[in-house]
Amino acid sequence: MPPEMYLSLARAVLDQKEPDLVDLQRMARLPDEQVFQLLAGADLIRTAKFGNQIHLCTICNGKSGKCSEDCKFCAQSGFHDTGAEAYPLLAKDRLQQGALELEDSPVHRYSIVTSGKGLPKKEIESVAQAFCRDEKQPAFLLRLPGHY
Ligand code: SF4
Repeated sequence: MPPEMYLSLARAVLDQKEPDLVDLQRMARLPDEQVFQLLAGADLIRTAKFGNQIHLCTICNGKSGKCSEDCKFCAQSGFHDTGAEAYPLLAKDRLQQGALELEDSPVHRYSIVTSGKGLPKKEIESVAQAFCRDEKQPAFLLRLPGHY
């Protein structure tokens, strides 16, 4: 597909015309050295939909290292000596601390990431409790003022 066609597709998207499956597959399969051909169209859509606004987010490394998996790219894997700090799931107050420190910041979202394929049920409950301001409030409703 000629590069200008990607720009045409972006203009069509802004006119509420979705790309067909063939075009989507072509874009998804673009070789790395041609991916930059998508940027002009992507920027056209971004500018039209979002302008120059950005949203900030931050993550807390809630549980680090000693993962049972062997993902080659990941410093959390227990198979590699990366020097990355390893520790169990952080306590509730430590998990909350990062969110509460953002109250007067322009950061909109706070997430907790953990090493491993998944958390055991007990640790999921611990994380859920960390996102409650008190016992009566359901999990995941810890909201920062002005942040949604
Ligand atoms: S933390 Fe996730 S990405 Fe990293 S080694 Fe474990 S499973 Fe793989």
